[in-house]
Amino acid sequence: VIRCRAAVAWAPGKPLSVEEVEVAPPKAGEVRIKLVVTGICRTDEHLLQGCFPNAEFPVIPGHEGAGIVESIGEGVTSMNPGDKVIPLCLPQCGECSFCQNPQSNFCQKSQISEPQNLLPDKTSRFSCKGKQIHHFLWVSTFSEYTVVPEYAVAKIDAAAPLDKVCLFGCGFSTGYGAAINTAKVKPGSTCAIFGLGGVGLSVVMGCKTAGASRIIAVDINKDKFAKAKELGATDCINPRDFKKPIQEVITEMTGQGVDYSFEAIGHADTMIAALASCNMNTGVCVMVGVLDSKISIDPTLLLTGRTWKGTMLGGWKMRECMPKLVSSYLEKKFNSDLLITHTLPFAEVNEGFELLHAGK
Ligand code: NAD
Ligand code: ZN
Repeated sequence: VIRCRAAVAWAPGKPLSVEEVEVAPPKAGEVRIKLVVTGICRTDEHLLQGCFPNAEFPVIPGHEGAGIVESIGEGVTSMNPGDKVIPLCLPQCGECSFCQNPQSNFCQKSQISEPQNLLPDKTSRFSCKGKQIHHFLWVSTFSEYTVVPEYAVAKIDAAAPLDKVCLFGCGFSTGYGAAINTAKVKPGSTCAIFGLGGVGLSVVMGCKTAGASRIIAVDINKDKFAKAKELGATDCINPRDFKKPIQEVITEMTGQGVDYSFEAIGHADTMIAALASCNMNTGVCVMVGVLDSKISIDPTLLLTGRTWKGTMLGGWKMRECMPKLVSSYLEKKFNSDLLITHTLPFAEVNEGFELLHAGK
């Protein structure tokens, strides 16, 4: 058993509390990882607010980390202690019908199919003050050590800088893949991205890489526009600067609406606005943001031919694609370092969330 620090969420709506926790050794088929770094994603905030489906408290959040294998359980063959790894919040078991389908990146062992609040044997490896603590999406990266099933871990190049590639565990891969894999943006096309957080800015990068000729970035926080332009946005617009709905503004800017639109916020009204912003016939809208309530739409929006899709982690088969994404990063095919705004010591994890709330 390892004793280390972890940020525990004891109940919804409360700040995280950095505690000493015990982390049990990995059982068969599991890997214990020494986490070096973790990112903060809006999805962690959804969890802290009690808005993440099927979550259980107390829990150790975090799902965008990178680290080094500390020890392996019986039967683990794909990695060894000392290997650099990224824990995967979307596993790839390799055996379910979705894993075997080359078109799909969704694994039936994921949280949406069966909750990942405990490891597959239905026990936790975490305890604190004599209480069992739940895992989050199995990966729980807000801990100095975590235990994850082998099929939810990707081994990466030993040359990878962990403090940079940790973003590939969620935000970067999601946004970049939403453009490249889910929408399959074509060269010369027009795109609109709603929300310019880590995820939306990564969509901008994906559209640029795919050769889009016009990339319209939409956010109510104009402080996000400089970074969006640096990453490839051609137009940046703030819905609050217009009297008419933003979908009408985008439709006028482009004639008939964009070829591809993306929602990376997680609000019902912006999901509908993004859908209405792509052209009524061949437009494709990708829903990236997470919303835990229902929305109603006018079905005519789809009747004329639009396609409305969602994405999980940008459509990557995470375990096999992660090493390739890291290699592309090392070959400088994209510069995801520009997404990093602040670096804080672990004890200041709540300050990290304050920066997220403040839109910084
Ligand atoms: P973030 O909070 O960093 O960014 C959200 C951005 O949206 C902010 O810049 C904010 O100013 C902007 N915004 C808020 N309301 C707006 C409005 N009405 N109009 C225009 N802009 C508005 O969040 P993030 O970490 O980039 O995550 C974005 C979303 O993606 C979240 O809902 C998150 O849960 C989701 N997500 C989904 C997946 C997936 O696999 N589908 C993966 C990661 C994150
Ligand atoms: Zn995330």
